[in-house]
This record gives sequence, C-alpha cells and structure tokens, in this order.
Amino acid sequence: MRLYRINYDGSPRWGQTVGDELLGLYDPSRRLADILADPSRPDDGEVALSEAQLLAPVEHVGKIVCVGVNYLDHCRETDTTPPAEPLLFAKFPSIVSGSGAVVSWSQALTAQVDFEAELVVSIGTQARDLPPKAALHHVAGYMCGNDLSARDLQLGDGQWIRGKNLDGFCALGPCLVTEDEVPDPQSLAIECRVNNKPMQSSNTSEMIFDVAEIISYCSSHFTLEPGDLIMTGTPHGVALGRTPSPWLADGDVVVVTIEGLGDLTTICQSF
Ligand code: MG
Repeated sequence: MRLYRINYDGSPRWGQTVGDELLGLYDPSRRLADILADPSRPDDGEVALSEAQLLAPVEHVGKIVCVGVNYLDHCRETDTTPPAEPLLFAKFPSIVSGSGAVVSWSQALTAQVDFEAELVVSIGTQARDLPPKAALHHVAGYMCGNDLSARDLQLGDGQWIRGKNLDGFCALGPCLVTEDEVPDPQSLAIECRVNNKPMQSSNTSEMIFDVAEIISYCSSHFTLEPGDLIMTGTPHGVALGRTPSPWLADGDVVVVTIEGLGDLTTICQSF
C-alpha cells in the first residue's frame, strides 16, 4: 500500500494509490493509525496524483531519530572512522517538508547546504528493549528522506542540532510504502540527483548498522512510539565529500530516489 498525504482544499488528507495515476481519498476523519489497521479501499473521491499537492506522509511525529555516518562509502569520503555503535542525533518534527516543497534559507546564515539521501523508517507500534530479530515487526513502512544539512553550522558546533534543523531541512516523501511491500530494506538502490545530475548512488546493503539493529539500539535507550521516524544515514556522494564542494544553491532541484519508494523532490531557495 502506498499512502500519500496531500493538501486537499486547505486540509491534510490521506489517500491510497488506485492504479498508477489516481489517488483514492480517505474520509478526513481517518487517521494514519486507523488506515494502517484497516486499509480498506478509500471511499471519499479520487484526485489525479499529478495534480495533488503532496505533504510529508507522516502524522503525530514525536521524534525523528537520525543515524550519522552509517554507510561505509560515506565514511571513506569524509575520512571518518566507522563508528562502533550507531551515532544518533535528532531532527525536529516542526522542520518536516513534503515532496515538491520549496525549502529556503538565508545566505547570511549558511553558505554550505548539503543533500543526504536516506531511507526513512516509520514506526508503527511501540518498541522498547527489542532484540534485532523482533525489530522489523514494529515498522509501519518506509519512505525517502533528504537529511538536508548546513555544514558550516553543523561542523561549527559541538553537536549537530543547529546545522541539521533549519526549517524544511527534513524532506520526506513522496509517500509511505507499507512494510509488506518492502520485504528486505537492506537491498534497495538509493540515489540522489541535483538538477538531474547523479550525485549519490548506492544501496542500502552498504549500511553499517541495518534497520533492525538501529531500531533495537534505539529501543534499548528510549521507547519508540507510533509515528516516530528513523533516518538511517546517507551513502557517499554528498557535497561535503567532493572537491570543490557543490553546495546547494538557489533554484537547485534535488531528487532522492529509493527503489520501490518513489521520488522525493526538494526545490532550493536561498536569499
Ligand atoms: Mg544524515
């Protein structure tokens, strides 16, 4: 099931794809948890997917847990020693943006905005102290993410909160693909293009800590709740690892694509 969240006459609405081009809409009273529990066919009209204004496919996000340097190829390009344990940081739910959104920043604030294509995990049921083998049972689904990062702010601080949390810097979408359609999250092609130029191309098989290990690790420290998200790290190819670094600029269009999960588009605006 591919669930989209759209702006419908000014209000958010969930829909499920009907064929390739149509989105069947759920009644506005249906929450994501209701739909996941009972995904029976939407019955409140249809809209053309191409004409829908997409929102991030999330609801009631409590926390967004991110994993840093979780691909071996990304460690090599940034000359970073692979971590012995998952390196966790956080993004704020208030900075989420959907596919097709314009994300803007002040050039006076940052001159080094970077892209990071990431597989994002949506937690479906409460998870605490889980072994890895039980972890994937708590996943609702997966989506593409772009962990946008202001490197000058990120690396200018002792921690990453500021550089990772400008408004819009957590791009998610285009839809939530339920876990039954992603039997193996560790074998997905993942890529990022900027203005249609390939910048990142890898596979989730390159993760240092896989999705199950990350969920298990998180759940041993804090309870994961339905709606929480985990951004699982980015592969090589980011601007930070290139000389000269092709930082994102006004008008750039960034597209993150993960096999089976669709295309997540972000339009950059700097002023
Ligand atoms: Mg990242």
